[in-house]
Amino acid sequence: MSKPNHYNMNEVKIINDGEKFAHVSVGKLNGFDGKLFVKEAAGSTSCEISFGTLPAGVSVPFFHSHKENEENYIILSGAGRFQVNEDVFEISEGSVIRVSTGCDRNLKCTSTEPMTYICIQAKEGSLGGYTMTDANITERENML
Ligand code: ZN
Repeated sequence: MSKPNHYNMNEVKIINDGEKFAHVSVGKLNGFDGKLFVKEAAGSTSCEISFGTLPAGVSVPFFHSHKENEENYIILSGAGRFQVNEDVFEISEGSVIRVSTGCDRNLKCTSTEPMTYICIQAKEGSLGGYTMTDANITERENML
């Protein structure tokens, strides 16, 4: 089967890099194949973020588990099935699946359209304050 004309093997590109931020892009989400990891390009210190796409009927070719990191999978488009050890369940656009350390996981696209997802990997139990228990509202000139 030939690839559609819009097919493009994306790569992670650094768009802007400041002293206090990094802006990277994996490009159009409907235009890539496989998996892209952004931690290195973004210089992230608290988590690894990857973008993944699975074509119709395809699963990740292996199960894996993590020793210290929890993973949160966010399904952006498409639908499929997710397996954690012996538990199997349906997932679709908008699903968020948290997977603990020390268990096997895999996912498969069962929709006709590709399933695109983000996986955020961070040390299990590492989150202290968050949202309003960590954020301060600050005074800053709006230059947008
Ligand atoms: Zn993983």
